[in-house]
Amino acid sequence: MYSIAAEHAKGKFAQDNIFASNNKAVALADKLGNDKVINATVGSILDEEGNLVVLNVVQEEYKKLTPRQYAAYAPIQGYQGYLEACIEQCFCSSRPEGYIRAVSTSGGTGVLHHAVHNYSAIGDEILISDWHWGAYDSVIQDNLRKIRTFSLINEEGHFDSVDFKKQVEYLVSKQQNTVILFNGIANNPTGFCLTIEEWQLAVNIIRESVEGTDKNIIFVPDVAYLDYSGEKEECRRFFKVFSNLPKNILTIVAYTLSKGFTIYGQRMGAMIAVTSDEGVAQEFVDINQYSSRATWSNGNSAPQQAMISICKDAEKVKRLDLERKQYFELIQQRADIFMKEAQECNIKFVPYISGFFITIPVDGAQAVCDKLQEENIFMVPLKKGIRLAVCSVSKKKMTGLAAKLREAMDAVGAKQ
Ligand code: PLP
Repeated sequence: MYSIAAEHAKGKFAQDNIFASNNKAVALADKLGNDKVINATVGSILDEEGNLVVLNVVQEEYKKLTPRQYAAYAPIQGYQGYLEACIEQCFCSSRPEGYIRAVSTSGGTGVLHHAVHNYSAIGDEILISDWHWGAYDSVIQDNLRKIRTFSLINEEGHFDSVDFKKQVEYLVSKQQNTVILFNGIANNPTGFCLTIEEWQLAVNIIRESVEGTDKNIIFVPDVAYLDYSGEKEECRRFFKVFSNLPKNILTIVAYTLSKGFTIYGQRMGAMIAVTSDEGVAQEFVDINQYSSRATWSNGNSAPQQAMISICKDAEKVKRLDLERKQYFELIQQRADIFMKEAQECNIKFVPYISGFFITIPVDGAQAVCDKLQEENIFMVPLKKGIRLAVCSVSKKKMTGLAAKLREAMDAVGAKQ
């Protein structure tokens, strides 16, 4: 093939197996009818009838937006009211102590991009957990960095602090900056969550690894599914562990409206820095704003304005919380059905606490998923397992799904 791509771009292709499986499922559902197909690939909340959920309070605010509100250029950093609302909604009453600054981004992905692009050097290794969202790989590699993984969960089903420490220390010994993308709450693809004690342990490890050195760590808690991970205040308590860290540790929270406000396609999020150093905070705003200008330029105005309208009205925030709570509970009920049946069918799954996905660790995930497709069931094959989207499969369809999975695993001889 004659290639015209630059050296660093040669061979890239965006074959996303999540969207590929989803496309197949959607095409089949169009042909046979929705009730004949189980599409467990979608990473968005679908209601019990299979319709995309868009929270009512969000829909209402969108409809009220004036042309100026949705069509004007937003400031590159983001509207001030939006940035304040993000900080408030992200932390609630668990705001860590330190200088806190925010920059709007194109969803949570924008945060990951800027964090990697601006805080590591070309060729550096970026630390992520073994169980991670596939787009992490693309963000890291597209920026000409390399992937290094740590084991997220140990044999006992807890945060694997031993391996985390080992990998952090290794990277600190060899590079000036270590960027860690850490999806430790309602993890995609497993639903695993660190306890507050485990978050504290992770921070202690980071702190000790750079103590007395001139090395830096940029710790990026990715909280994409925060709003579906438990009671609003309770699930945010871990943010306090980022208070008053030394100035060579910068926390950048990857916050997004995609899930919490159910506006995935509106592409809006924010990177929120927590630092004990005022200069680091200012530099954070400067360099990331610059990168926004150099990539997507201004962010989308509409979701920012809708969020501002909701968050300045306590009644609307109450409704928002209530709606989310209902969907959090629905997702938990769906997950409970699967986990109970999986245990009955002797299927192991990675410890699930909350979030949109459950993962079944298995060898030969692709063969199992292919087998399931013969039954019009679609799940996402990963390197080390199968991802089941509990956010999008109704309770009715979830019932009996574990047995179907057991059959498919047995049929292809898949081992756990
Ligand atoms: N982080 C994780 C773990 C995710 O699964 C997602 C979305 O699927 C995101 C971040 C960011 O999503 P978005 O860029 O759509 O806000």
